[in-house]
Amino acid sequence: MEMNIDISGTTKLVGLIGSPVSQSMSPAMHTASFAKLGIDAVYLGFDVKLDQLADAVVGLKQLGAVGYNVTMPCKTYIGEYLDELSEAADLMGAVNTVVIEDGKSVGHNTDGAGFVQNIRNLGCDPAGKVVTVIGAGGAGSAVYTQVAIDGASEVRIFNQRDDFWDKTAARIGRVAEKTGARISLKDLADTGALEKSIAQSDILVNATRVGMVPNVDECLVEEEWLHEGRLVADTVYEPHETLLIKRAKARGLVTAGGLGMLLQQLALGEAIWFGCETPVEYLEKMFY
Ligand code: NAD
Repeated sequence: MEMNIDISGTTKLVGLIGSPVSQSMSPAMHTASFAKLGIDAVYLGFDVKLDQLADAVVGLKQLGAVGYNVTMPCKTYIGEYLDELSEAADLMGAVNTVVIEDGKSVGHNTDGAGFVQNIRNLGCDPAGKVVTVIGAGGAGSAVYTQVAIDGASEVRIFNQRDDFWDKTAARIGRVAEKTGARISLKDLADTGALEKSIAQSDILVNATRVGMVPNVDECLVEEEWLHEGRLVADTVYEPHETLLIKRAKARGLVTAGGLGMLLQQLALGEAIWFGCETPVEYLEKMFY
């Protein structure tokens, strides 16, 4: 990929903090977007571990960065070091985008909004819908919280009984109270309940790591559970087409892959930092 990039003494800084960051597609995607839009900024990855997080937040502010993205393991810890949080980031308990404005570091979460924008682009609005979300980690909590904020009538979360289960059990009461959605947490081991829930849902989302490289032959949903009339989405974007998306396509259903969500959350981040409109289709062609 060849791009003309002029870096000067006034070039602005944005980036990604977390650990590891070396495998991230974000620097390449934002760089391509800035070059296309003529935005004079660089996007760099900074390997920041939890014991460096407080210093990194202060350092990026002092150096005059425009803002930055936040990935694991910092996402759920950075809130306490920021000056303000958006309502969504506060409810999700996670921040993936920070903007530094008027001397304040403000935390947002664009993962959930990126997910919703991606399915809206396919003609599916979560308002009034019943949604089954499998997975309640970083991506899952962003998705279930955002669909509740955007008016889903009922959200059924399935997760295995790990640490994410406990955190979710503690959080969903507040999300339900703030949004008015009915929200429940169910054990992923109860496959009968999962099959029934999918049959009763308008939208099914996989927000677990299942199906992600290298385990591309794994899927938590049987093909015969996927009936006509529902949208099936995956947050996993490596591979671009997971086994779940392949099974849904084989049943003729509308599908939303993780790359679309990734591009939409990236676009929302750039809008927060620069007020620009990201060339999403251009990036999709470049990175698909
Ligand atoms: P996480 O570590 O925060 O959460 C992992 C989730 O997967 C938990 O719910 C966990 O219980 C579940 N899980 C893990 N192994 C499992 C198994 N064997 N069986 C059942 N459940 C299992 O991870 P995350 O940040 O939420 O990421 C999940 C996926 O979403 C990853 O593939 C990630 O790349 C993707 N993601 C995509 C976007 C996007 O913009 N498309 C954004 C964030 C994350």
